[in-house]
Amino acid sequence: MYNVMSPKAEEFISDEEIRECLDYAQKNKKNEALISQILEKAKKMKGISHKEAIVLLDCELEEKNQEIFQLAEQIKQEFYGNRIVMFAPLYLSNYCINGCEYCPYHAKNRHISRKKLTQEEVRREVIALQDMGHKRLALEAGEDPVNNPLEYILECIHTIYSIRHKNGAIRRVNVNIAATTVEDYRKLKEAGIGTYILFQETYDKKQYEKLHPTGPKSNYEYHTEAMDRAMDGGIDDVGLGVLFGLNNYRYDFTGIIMHAEHLEAFKGVGPHTISVPRVRRADDIDPDVFDNGISDETFQKIVACIRIAVPYTGMIVSTRESAKTREKVLHLGVSQISGGSRTSVGGYYEEEQEEDNSAQFDVSDRRTLEEVVHWLMDLGYVPSFCTACYREGRTGDRFMELLKNRQIVNCCHPNALMTLKEFLEDYASPQTKEIGEKLIAEELKKIPNEKVRLKAREYIDNIQNGGRDFRF
Ligand code: SF4
Ligand code: SF4
Repeated sequence: MYNVMSPKAEEFISDEEIRECLDYAQKNKKNEALISQILEKAKKMKGISHKEAIVLLDCELEEKNQEIFQLAEQIKQEFYGNRIVMFAPLYLSNYCINGCEYCPYHAKNRHISRKKLTQEEVRREVIALQDMGHKRLALEAGEDPVNNPLEYILECIHTIYSIRHKNGAIRRVNVNIAATTVEDYRKLKEAGIGTYILFQETYDKKQYEKLHPTGPKSNYEYHTEAMDRAMDGGIDDVGLGVLFGLNNYRYDFTGIIMHAEHLEAFKGVGPHTISVPRVRRADDIDPDVFDNGISDETFQKIVACIRIAVPYTGMIVSTRESAKTREKVLHLGVSQISGGSRTSVGGYYEEEQEEDNSAQFDVSDRRTLEEVVHWLMDLGYVPSFCTACYREGRTGDRFMELLKNRQIVNCCHPNALMTLKEFLEDYASPQTKEIGEKLIAEELKKIPNEKVRLKAREYIDNIQNGGRDFRF
């Protein structure tokens, strides 16, 4: 029985409810009156339900689909403006005891080289990342209580935050590790993590169990209820994600919106981010396992409909996607992207070699961070290295309140411009710097609050003169 307030995975992600919604959406895919009614509600920019969202995703009326894309763009503009927050993944260890069928780190893969960074190697990776200009990381590690116990992850976080190199500093460490206990989540919180990220992979229990035949991750309930435990452990920024291509995308789309609804209803705070990765080619993975791959068009529609359903949740695309695809989804609602990513353990310090098979998946967008920054600016976006909310204690419901009141615009925009200025001063080539300086001068004028605008200008002058780390 579906119950958004239930602590049980099978009740807040009810299979019966999802299947009913999928049938309902199919029956109404050309129901103009219903689709118009949902769009009217969505235009209030307060979100729509999973049942309404899947109707929009399934909509087959060309004119209405154009309205859906336009509305997604408007919401993106209203809440996130033209800013795109930058981050990089950092792979700590690819030891893993799970049997995920779609991931080359699965325990039975004997021909992948297994690596785990020492603290000295963590230092080298972080310095390489700082030298690129990164301030925000997402830590990645397989699940292995012997090789990568929680203590190891905590030690790495401590090392990362302690490294100061030239003007570089990692100011926010997000963590993507296996589902764990409330006690462990409390330790991660105490270590100062930003967002706890855990991809559900698929919400369909049967398919989930088929794809995760062995290891602790095979427990669907424990995995699906992890975000509730993370919040019980004091982590109030959590990041959801499904791996599109593992299962019917309509099922997983509905599931992820239901998960967001559950967190908001049951814990009082919705997810901080939603990631939308698609399955990629990787070592020791049979491409025939996946017959659910989605087209670029469907991918764009998913991004637009997530933007409409949960306007307050940031959306992330990674370098799994090509530059072309990333360009297409940026304006539809994506607020964070990775840049200059390496998906192998130790890949930043030692440039990944062609024959290195320790990567988790193929990176499609292989440009450097500076190239990505340059490209974003050419497209009219402001690349942002901002980490201010987390460092000002604006997490969880405090962050959501600001966002819902649209007040974040007076914070995000100046913070984006100041952190971009730091990047230009410390890491950019003269050509990138020239474009960036012009962009900053133009964008400063757009800060609505005069006091904030003047202060931001003053801080930017200070950065020019060697000052760093100003924020609103
Ligand atoms: Fe391990 Fe994660 Fe890969 Fe599964 S997806 S095999 S848990 S690293
Ligand atoms: Fe993100 Fe807060 Fe910075 Fe805005 S001010 S970009 S919400 S960290």
